[in-house]
Amino acid sequence: MSFQNPVFIPGPTNMPESLRRACDMPTLDHRSAMFADILHPARDGVRKVLRSETAEVYIFPATGTGGWEVAITNTLNPGDTVLAARNGMFSHRWIDMCQRHGLKVEVVETPWGEGIPADRFEEILTADKDHRIKAVLATHNETATGVLSDIAAVRRAMNAADHPALLFVDGVSSIASMPFEFDDWGVDVAVTGSQKGFMLPAGLAITGFSKKALAAVETAGLPRCFYDIRDMARTYAANGYPYTPAVGLLHGLKVSCGMIEAEGLDNVFARHARIAEGVRAAVKAWGLTLCAARPELYSNSVSAIRTPEGFDATRIVTHAAETYGVAFGVGLGEVAGKVFRIGHLGMLTDVLALSGIATAEMAMVDLGLNVKLGSGVAAAQEVYRKTAAPVALAAE
Ligand SMILES: *Cc1c(COP(=O)(O)O)cnc(C)c1O
Repeated sequence: MSFQNPVFIPGPTNMPESLRRACDMPTLDHRSAMFADILHPARDGVRKVLRSETAEVYIFPATGTGGWEVAITNTLNPGDTVLAARNGMFSHRWIDMCQRHGLKVEVVETPWGEGIPADRFEEILTADKDHRIKAVLATHNETATGVLSDIAAVRRAMNAADHPALLFVDGVSSIASMPFEFDDWGVDVAVTGSQKGFMLPAGLAITGFSKKALAAVETAGLPRCFYDIRDMARTYAANGYPYTPAVGLLHGLKVSCGMIEAEGLDNVFARHARIAEGVRAAVKAWGLTLCAARPELYSNSVSAIRTPEGFDATRIVTHAAETYGVAFGVGLGEVAGKVFRIGHLGMLTDVLALSGIATAEMAMVDLGLNVKLGSGVAAAQEVYRKTAAPVALAAE
């Protein structure tokens, strides 16, 4: 069978046909005006999605992981200290990257399933009288656990401590799917990738820099070359790129931002919230719980679902892939085998979400879990029926 089911992994996400087509371009000269007409609208579009008036957007041929490296190497010096909470696989990997770059990381070990402990950050920052800590790293949405942290609270903690550190936010699985306020939260560097909320193939590291972060670039001593935003800034000013850009992806990004703007950013967030609510209703009907400890922490882009003690949650993922041709996310790191994940970000609709819920249900029943066929689907249907709004059907 060559038909493609939607995927329910939290990235890469399903691609709208219009975006697949937007990425499929003939070769064009990236030193021509045609390229400028892709690059600048893409950067402007990203700035709007970040909800910023002033962020400088730099886009690299890389992935979200490369974006982390863009953030740290352009702003910090060898031996600098950064503060971060470890509450899942992605925050862990960013910490690991910092250590490999010779940074000292003040790690706040946080239970997986909890959010960033802003109060603990405030204590640490208040105690850091000589401002050893140069940056605070915050993973907005921990994709491994389905936990959304409160970045406004992290900013308040920094302000309460009157601390000058930069605020770096990993928004890889939140930007363009959940509210993200670059200016209001005082974010200094935001990082995302093309293959999650932007619904594109992987291949772009998308970053936004504040004025304060740009000032730090002048004195940052960490080695960088490919990721040096000074080369990006210089060549952008001449409508170019420091090396060969991923033109098709950048064009896709321009079109994606246009799609998001046409739907309305708030409507995009509301759609994600509604779809996530249906998934959570299904989880409840299955008698299962989320890895996220409390409702305030629930992510609208991914749900990590705990399976009963003694049951290897990875079997659900393997079985659904082998039997039904549908992809779910496995548990990572500390929660490997304990959770499986339903990704619900990107181009999903309620109808698509129902197919994922139905498939997860079949897989769990096949594997002997005490779940009733149709129970989760019915619970989600109730949510979707009650919250359905007239659909503007658009031909793609
Ligand atoms: C996916 C993801 C990343 C890693 O992005 P890549 O594009 O795979 O390098 C980093 N952080 C979070 C929160 C993610 O969800």
